[in-house]
Amino acid sequence: MSSHKPSLSRRTMLGGFAAAGAVPLLTPAAAAAVSTAAPLRTDARTKIVLLGTSGGPGWGTTEPPRQGIASALVVGDRYYLVDAGEGVGFRLMDAKLGNWQTRAALSGLRAVFLTHLHSDHINDLSNILSLGAYNGLGQADIPVQIWGPGNRGVLPPKTGSHPMPPIVAPENPTPGTEEIVGLLVRAFATDFNDRAIDGGMPVPQHMFAGHDVPLPERLVDDPNGDPHPRMKPVVFYEDDRVRVSATLVQHAPVFPSFAFRFDTEDGSVVFSGDTGPSENLIRMARGADVLVHEVIATEWAAQRYPEPRSPEDEAAFQHLIKSHTPVEEVGAVAEAAGVPTLVLNHFVPGSWPVEKWQAAQTGYSGKVVIGSDLDEIGL
Ligand SMILES: [Zn+2]
Repeated sequence: MSSHKPSLSRRTMLGGFAAAGAVPLLTPAAAAAVSTAAPLRTDARTKIVLLGTSGGPGWGTTEPPRQGIASALVVGDRYYLVDAGEGVGFRLMDAKLGNWQTRAALSGLRAVFLTHLHSDHINDLSNILSLGAYNGLGQADIPVQIWGPGNRGVLPPKTGSHPMPPIVAPENPTPGTEEIVGLLVRAFATDFNDRAIDGGMPVPQHMFAGHDVPLPERLVDDPNGDPHPRMKPVVFYEDDRVRVSATLVQHAPVFPSFAFRFDTEDGSVVFSGDTGPSENLIRMARGADVLVHEVIATEWAAQRYPEPRSPEDEAAFQHLIKSHTPVEEVGAVAEAAGVPTLVLNHFVPGSWPVEKWQAAQTGYSGKVVIGSDLDEIGL
C-alpha cells in the first residue's frame, strides 16, 4: 500500500476527460485500424506488452505467429502478468523483461492476475512456478502474488445430449486459484525438495503465494444463476505502482470470470479476459486510456457450425459467440466505455487473416490496434 493515489494522476484525468467528451476522440477517418508486420515499440515507462495473443486451447499459431494468451503491464523496472498461457516463458525473454540478459526474466515480476481458470489462460503458470527459481523468481523482496478466481463451489449444469461423464477429482472438482497454486506445489514436490536440499534453491513459499480475488457473497452464492451479475468493480490489490480492480464478465458457464483494471501514475488500462459484451466491463473501463479486449471471428464460428444446424449445433454456436465477443461488436463496447484506444487480443481463431479483424472498427470512433505478439502500447 502507498500514500499516493495513482488514479488521480494527470494521464488518468486526461483519460477521464476523453470519456466525458472534453477531449475529442479520433474521427473514424483518422482511426484506420493499425496492424504492422514489425511489433509496435514504445519508450514509455508504463506500457502494455502483448506476450501471446492466440485464443483458445489449441497450441499457438505460426501464421501469424501467436502464442497462448498472456499480457504484461510494465511499470518501470517491474511488471505484472495478466494470464499465463502457453509460451509465456519464451515471450518474457523475447520481450526482454526483468533481467532477461542473465536468464532472470522473472526477477521483475511482482504479481500475476488470472482472468479465469480455463486451461489456455493458466497452463504455463505451472512453468513459471516450477522453473521459476532458475529464471529469476524469488529475487524480489517479497513473494510474487498470484491472484485469480476462487473455487466455483458447484459443477456447471450439463448441456447437450451426451451422458453425464465421470467427475474429475469429485472431492474438489472446481478448485480456485489459491488451491491451484497449492496443488501445483504438491505436483512438483519431488523437484522443489530436490533442488532446495541439493542445490539450496528457494522454497515455494519464498517465491510465490496464491490468492482468490474476494467478491461480495451475494455475487457468488449461485454460480449457476446469473453468470454476469451487475456489480461495482472491486479493488483488491495495490502497491506503490499499480492499483488493480476486478469485475465479473460474461463467460458462462465459467464463473467467476474477471476483467481487470490497472490504474497507474501514467494512465489506466483494462484487460477484458474472455467475455461476451459486458456491461460490467464497460462500467469499469470508463475513463481508462486503453481497453485490451478479446474477439472471435463470427464468420469462422459459422463455418464451424454450418447451417442448417441441429439444435445441439445451434446451442454450441450460440455458446461460442455469446461467451466471446464477435469482432463486429467489440467496437461498440469500446465506444460505450469511451476509451480512446482499443487493442485486440485473444483472437479466436489465432490463424484468422489479420485484415479481417479490421471489422472491429465498426461502431467505434477511436483507434483500433490489431494486436500481435510482442506489441508494446504505451500509457
Ligand atoms: Zn476462456
